[in-house]
Amino acid sequence: MHETREVFRLFPQALQIAFYLVGFATIFYFLFGSYKIVQKYRKGRPAGRWNQLGARFMKALGTMAKHSTLSKRNKYVGVAHWLIFWGFVVLFIGTVIVALDHDFLRFMGVHLLQGKFYLWFSLFLDVFGVGFLVGLLMMAFRRAKKPPELDYTRPDLPQGKYDRKPYVTDDKIFLWLLFFIGLTGFLIEGLRIVGDNYPSFEVWSPVGWMLAHALDALGLSAKANTIFIYTWWFHAVMVLGFIAYLPHSKAMHILVDFANLMFKDDLAAKRLPKVTEEKMKEGMGYLKLTDFTWKELMDFDACTKCGRCHVACPARASGAPLSPRDLILEMRTFSEIKAGTLEWFMQAESNGWTNKKEPAIAGDVIKADTLWACTTCMACVEACPVGIEHLTTIVNLRRTLVDEGNMEDSLQDVLMNIGDYGNSFGQSDRMRAKWTKELDFKIKDARKEEVDYLWYVGDYASYDQRIQSISRKVAKILNDAGVSFGILYEAEKNSGNDVRRIGEEGLYEMLVEDNMAALEEASFKEIFTTDPHTLNTLKNEYPEFGGHYKVKHYTQLLIELIKSGKLQLKKKLDYTVTYHDPCYLGRYNGITEEPRELLQLLGVKLKEMPRNRTNSFCCGAGGGRIWMDDSKLEKRPSEMRIEEALALGEVDCFIVACPKDYAMYSDAVKTSGNEGKLEVKDVIDLLEEALS
Ligand code: SF4
Ligand code: SF4
Repeated sequence: MHETREVFRLFPQALQIAFYLVGFATIFYFLFGSYKIVQKYRKGRPAGRWNQLGARFMKALGTMAKHSTLSKRNKYVGVAHWLIFWGFVVLFIGTVIVALDHDFLRFMGVHLLQGKFYLWFSLFLDVFGVGFLVGLLMMAFRRAKKPPELDYTRPDLPQGKYDRKPYVTDDKIFLWLLFFIGLTGFLIEGLRIVGDNYPSFEVWSPVGWMLAHALDALGLSAKANTIFIYTWWFHAVMVLGFIAYLPHSKAMHILVDFANLMFKDDLAAKRLPKVTEEKMKEGMGYLKLTDFTWKELMDFDACTKCGRCHVACPARASGAPLSPRDLILEMRTFSEIKAGTLEWFMQAESNGWTNKKEPAIAGDVIKADTLWACTTCMACVEACPVGIEHLTTIVNLRRTLVDEGNMEDSLQDVLMNIGDYGNSFGQSDRMRAKWTKELDFKIKDARKEEVDYLWYVGDYASYDQRIQSISRKVAKILNDAGVSFGILYEAEKNSGNDVRRIGEEGLYEMLVEDNMAALEEASFKEIFTTDPHTLNTLKNEYPEFGGHYKVKHYTQLLIELIKSGKLQLKKKLDYTVTYHDPCYLGRYNGITEEPRELLQLLGVKLKEMPRNRTNSFCCGAGGGRIWMDDSKLEKRPSEMRIEEALALGEVDCFIVACPKDYAMYSDAVKTSGNEGKLEVKDVIDLLEEALS
């Protein structure tokens, strides 16, 4: 027998025609669904992501091929998805080759699937097909164990007020449909081999060969050809069903995720989008579907419900009514309804807003409490394997709430203070540098004297009495090391990082303008700051307004001073410590090793908490949360973090490198009843001790 296979083996012509008719109808349905999705994105505003297309493409391809974002922190899922992904790709390409060969090439006198090519083709597809099934079984096994990522409990609605059945049905259909497509594919192969009486070349289809023997052992060889026909149709109907299901379900991520990764902004969340002048005329916030950019609309479709953001979110963990996953899926449903695209299994429970003719996106679709619960820690963006930029959507919707004045009074007061006085403490700008009065030297005024370093001190390090002593230690150490540095005195204003994340873009732009004018007056080479929030906006956001500065964190500067011998350590410290990575330092700006290197130089023993570096757990202060009421939380994120540190056992100090962290964790040690068990220290406290 010739080394090939017949596509429509044992099929009369009428059945073949029926197959083509159903196939064309399905493909048309698929294309129409995909067209509607593209039309939906076309309704979005420009996102400015069409630059460097080649580099973007290659990066997304590398991410997909290696599964680097999927394997991060969950190797098991990474391996399982790698097997499914590559199995799917190879089987898909194999099917396309079969179709090409049968429906086009043979009419040109070419027959690809024969001889050696066919043998290797068969072997290749069998190997990847097995991987595909193993990957799916691994995922099914994981689901059965109910991991926290797949806990679909909503934090924003009471139990019984929502139904997750469509959610779960969609997951099951997706997984088991793929599994049975793969399984019946192998069964067809086995039945064909039995029916053809074991052609020797079919050993190149080892799975089919083994299945053929198994069918024989079950006494089914006599009926092999009949069963073949039924199995073939069952397999074909499932494949066509899957094609139809693709654009209207969880499977949509197969179509969207590569593009979503390709068009992801590397600075997403670190640099929030400006409000264009055109948009500003209607208000800063998002009121309708067409206010979203096409990338934001694509984000909603890209979600695979993997739950990584849900688990990473400190707001959800603390009992606040926010899950970034649920927020994205609720937005998906909203965008589907508004754009008229069809969702077979509604991904989100509508909470009543679908009955409204014109639901408010910020308020009805996503509740105000949900939006205000976000600490802007960026853990969701960092955890998401498919490049979803949750934080941009959250801040854009917060801008709507700010436009409407829909916020807590305490937050409103702080914004007024910042507007009136330039600081969140509502104190006179002349008081900003009062903390320096207790120093026995005068810090230079960088507006009057040329300095190497401009210290952007920030509100908390300037005005909060608990932190002023830390600022003085920094000043003294730098002065002793002979560093040329100065500050802006009363000309410095809140840098605006958190103001922007609250959603008060107008005030943020005013602050940027004022601060840039003050910086323009000063003469310096580099900026350093103790405040990671300030560092983030100066480094990542001011450049869009024309402010290009070299910005570093004080831990980076201190290491340089130690290494250059300008700071001479007198002793090694004998503490066991743990270090907390501030979100805006580690996750936002990748500065994770310098503070650790500094601690190493000081001689302390560092015990890492389970969540460290870019996987750090937020203190709960960011995005304006430090100024909001947190009394309704089940447990504050900062208290959970202190408990995480205590669980390490025998840790003397909890080391921070951010003024807000110092404030949050000093409080958390007391409110969690752990006073005396763990001392919160700034890294500068340890350095001072090692220098003395
Ligand atoms: S930024 Fe942080 S708090 Fe906000 S949704 Fe994402 S993970 Fe949750
Ligand atoms: S938003 Fe991203 S991380 Fe969150 S569930 Fe969806 S795919 Fe997973």
